[in-house]
Amino acid sequence: MVKERESQLAVHHPVEALEGKATAKRKKDVRIDIYKAWCKACGICVAFCPSHVFSTDEQGFPQVAHPEACINCGWCEMHCPDFAISVQEKRSRVKKPE
Ligand code: SF4
Ligand code: SF4
Repeated sequence: MVKERESQLAVHHPVEALEGKATAKRKKDVRIDIYKAWCKACGICVAFCPSHVFSTDEQGFPQVAHPEACINCGWCEMHCPDFAISVQEKRSRVKKPE
């Protein structure tokens, strides 16, 4: 089912093109949250993340395996059919002058 879905989506979102983009972009310090209660384990985010950030747990749900590889492209957040992923760039903590 996921394989079939992957091949359908690949027509519109070639992974090769995204991977090219991934190498061109700089990696960013990001926070990735997956709301498991909303996720249906469809595998889209796992299959199409250009930086291979996700793996799956024993139940097939995505988990953030390589957060350091995320380039904050927003693909997973935009394409998750259940709005179950949030990706935010971490803010650097800059101390205010006293
Ligand atoms: S795309 Fe969304 S619903 Fe599908 S596995 Fe990823 S987080 Fe879950
Ligand atoms: S924003 Fe999502 S799709 Fe893009 S690199 Fe990060 S985890 Fe992968």
